[in-house]
Order: sequence, then C-alpha cells, then structure tokens
Amino acid sequence: MRYSALAILKNALAGNRDWPAVWREPEPKAEYDIVIVGGGGHGLSTAYYLAREHGLTNVAVLEKGWLGSGNVGRNTTIVRSNYLLPGNEPFYELSLKLWEGLEQDFNYNAMFSQRGVLLLGHNDSQRDALARRGNAMRLEGVDAELLDRAQLMKLVPFLDFDNARFPIQAGLLQRRGGTARHDAVAWGYARGADSRGVDLIQNCEVTGFRIEAGVVKGVETTRGPIRAKKVGIVVAGSTTRLAAMAGMRLPIESHILQAFVTEGLKPILPHVISFGVGHFYISQSDKGGLVFGGDLDGYNSWAQRGNLPMVEHVCEAGMAMMPMIGRARMLRSWAGLQDMSMDGSPIIDKTGIEGLYLNCGWCYGGFKATPASGFCFSHLIARGEPHPAAAQMRLDRFERGHVIDEGGRGAQPNLH
Ligand SMILES: Cc1cc2nc3c(=O)[nH]c(=O)nc-3n(C[C@H](O)[C@H](O)[C@H](O)COP(=O)(O)OP(=O)(O)OC[C@H]3O[C@@H](n4cnc5c(N)ncnc54)[C@H](O)[C@@H]3O)c2cc1C
Repeated sequence: MRYSALAILKNALAGNRDWPAVWREPEPKAEYDIVIVGGGGHGLSTAYYLAREHGLTNVAVLEKGWLGSGNVGRNTTIVRSNYLLPGNEPFYELSLKLWEGLEQDFNYNAMFSQRGVLLLGHNDSQRDALARRGNAMRLEGVDAELLDRAQLMKLVPFLDFDNARFPIQAGLLQRRGGTARHDAVAWGYARGADSRGVDLIQNCEVTGFRIEAGVVKGVETTRGPIRAKKVGIVVAGSTTRLAAMAGMRLPIESHILQAFVTEGLKPILPHVISFGVGHFYISQSDKGGLVFGGDLDGYNSWAQRGNLPMVEHVCEAGMAMMPMIGRARMLRSWAGLQDMSMDGSPIIDKTGIEGLYLNCGWCYGGFKATPASGFCFSHLIARGEPHPAAAQMRLDRFERGHVIDEGGRGAQPNLH
C-alpha cells in the first residue's frame, strides 16, 4: 500500500483497522541468490537497492534480533557530507543527495530535517583546518560556509563565547546537513525491500559460513542452513566475529559509543552543533529532547552499554560549550557497538573468498552513510565491481598503504 494523505483519511474514517503489516514475516527458504547478514540500516538499504536498482529480489536479509535493533536505532542521527578527503567526500555527498529524495523514494516519513550542521573551531589550527575542509568541500561542489566569531555570535548566541579555555574562533556550517528519525530509516528501507519481494528474516542469527574450495556456498543459522550464491556481511560492531567464522582477520576493532537524551524542551537549538575541542555534538529532536554524544569508551568490548567516566566527560564537554544545558534533566543514555577501522574510513569490498562481500568500518559515521552504503554495496554485489563513489574503500588499502586517514590520526582506532 502507498502511504498518502488520502490513505490516512480513509483509514481514519474506517477506525484505523485496515493498515496492513509494514512487512511480511516469511519463513527462510532453503536457497537464495543473495543473503545479506545483518538487518541494520546498511543491510536493509543494500537489499532495497539490490531490488530497486538491479532487479534482484531472490534476496534474504538475516537479522539475529529485530530489524533496527543495532546501531541504526541507537545513533544520534546526524547527517552531513562535510568530509575532507577525495576517498570520502564524493561518497558522503552521494549519500546526502540520496537522503534528499529518500522519503519520496521509499514512500515513508523518515523525518529528514536539513537544519544545518555546524562544526566549531577553538584555536588557530582548528580554524585553518575548518577552512581547508570547507575549501575541499567546495571544490567537490558541496555547500560549506566558514563563519567568524561575530557571525557565530549572531547565529548561536547561547554558546559560551567567554570561555577562556575553549574560545570559539570559527565555525564551518553545512546548511544541507541535519538529522533524520533513525528507526524510520530502517523501517522505510525494510518496507521498500519487502514490497519488492525481499525476505526479511528476524530472530535468525548467522552462526557460520559454508565455504567450499574458496567459494562461499551459504550460511549456517539458528534457523537451519541457507544456501546462497553470494553473501554480504553487514553487521557493524559484530564484523570481526562474523569474519572470524569465515577465517578472516580484519583491520577492525569494536568499541562502545554512548548517546544521551534529556527531557523534552521547547525549541532552543536550531542546528546540529559539534564542539571541536571536547568532541561533543548535540541536536534537538522533534520531540524536544536534546540528543548528544561524545567520544568512544576507549576499550574494546562487545557489550552494548557504556561506563560512567564517559558520561562525566561528555556532560563536562557539553557544559563547557553550552552552559544552559546544565539545567536540563537527562532522561536516558544507551550505547552501540562501533566497527572502528584503522584509518577511520569504511570498507566496501569483496573478500578473498569468492562470493563473500564485506561492508564495515563505519566508526562514528555510518548513519549518514546508510543510503550510499546500500547503493554502492548493492552495485558491487550485483555487478562485481566497485561503485565509483566507493572505489577507494578497499580492504587491501591497509596493505598498500593507501589509507583514507580523514582524521589524520594514523592507525589508532580509538582516536578516530
Ligand atoms: C551512540 C551512537 C551514536 C551514533 N551517532 C551517529 C551519528 O550521529 N551520525 C552517523 O552518521 N552515525 C552515527 N553512529 C554510527 C551509526 O549508527 C553506525 O555506523 C551505523 O548504524 C552502522 O550500520 P548499521 O545500521 O547497518 O548497523 P546496525 O544497526 O548495528 O546493524 C547490524 C546488524 O547486524 C546484526 N547482526 C550482528 N551479528 C549478526 C549475526 N551473527 N547474524 C545476523 N545478524 C547479526 C545486528 O543485530 C544488527 O542489527 C552512531 C552510533 C552510535 C552507537
């Protein structure tokens, strides 16, 4: 069924009894052309674009929990394309362009809101880095505005401009950036894939791979074996565990990232704002809660919960930038499992096992990448060659020394 104002009216008059389920609950078949492991944002968008762009519908998405139970439903929902390096910028800009037409495309309200993303700089070198980033973006045809202190005082007067330790010197604004409703993105892609014939199988954990003579033949699951000609691994923070089942050791570590939300407030925060020194980012949800986060918990873990020292660190950073938030009451905090790559950039590639494909390394930034990740990964799986926008996101770049070190931090995943 197509969602429309007319459908809402019709169903309201009929007592809202006729809305069909948003997707089916099929039993797994014995064999598919393509199996996608992981029903997060990227797995679902891959399945959606396999069907929509390439006409491939004999596809199953296998999810160990419920659709959207991982990072896609846990993130702080920031969408932007303000990247510096040529290996990243065209990809994230493709993603932003897909976001701009996404709701019409999959006929679902994902509450995409282009309210602007502002990065702050607090010293000369940060101001220069923001200018360089903005110029690199403009060279790629992407919108970027460098703002000075006076312009910022006008735009965001509630920030602490008297902070002697972290003086605000400059800002880089991308007006087309913003936020989206994270669950709705997963649901929209799920509905779009299901309606084109893709089987979305929940409560189905992949426990092993069938590999014969270097060729993938299918997967073992908690609901029995499933044969497949091609298999895509799209499991974010669980990537190294799945890879180990296929005998691979990857340049990925899993770390925890926490997020926080306050009670609902009247609109006070018009943009997404990122505090350069303390690594703190904040926006206000449409319900009114201030949604914010900071750095990773610095240790490796598989637990989807964080620790108190990072709560203190994030709140301190927030107070340093925007003292007024100290009066808001925090309602909840939670955590997700980040797949941190060694250079802070993602991997969308084939593996050494024929028919087995890999999509991982999203670090802090995979939500904004959801559309382009599925678009480019489906291209790779369907056609056997990388999409031009993701051509540098190769697994062997670490061996070749061609890393995409966006943060300039080298091979230290907890710093990216
Ligand atoms: C607190 C937090 C804040 C963030 N903020 C932002 C942000 O503001 N902007 C941004 O761009 N990004 C952000 N991110 C990052 C972003 O959420 C992730 O990079 C992205 O969601 C990862 O891709 P995914 O949606 O496919 O992952 P997930 O939703 O984690 O999907 C992976 C799925 O694989 C499933 N799975 C795992 N193992 C198996 C198995 N054996 N068998 C079957 N299924 C399996 C999991 O259950 C899970 O559902 C944030 C992340 C967190 C945790």
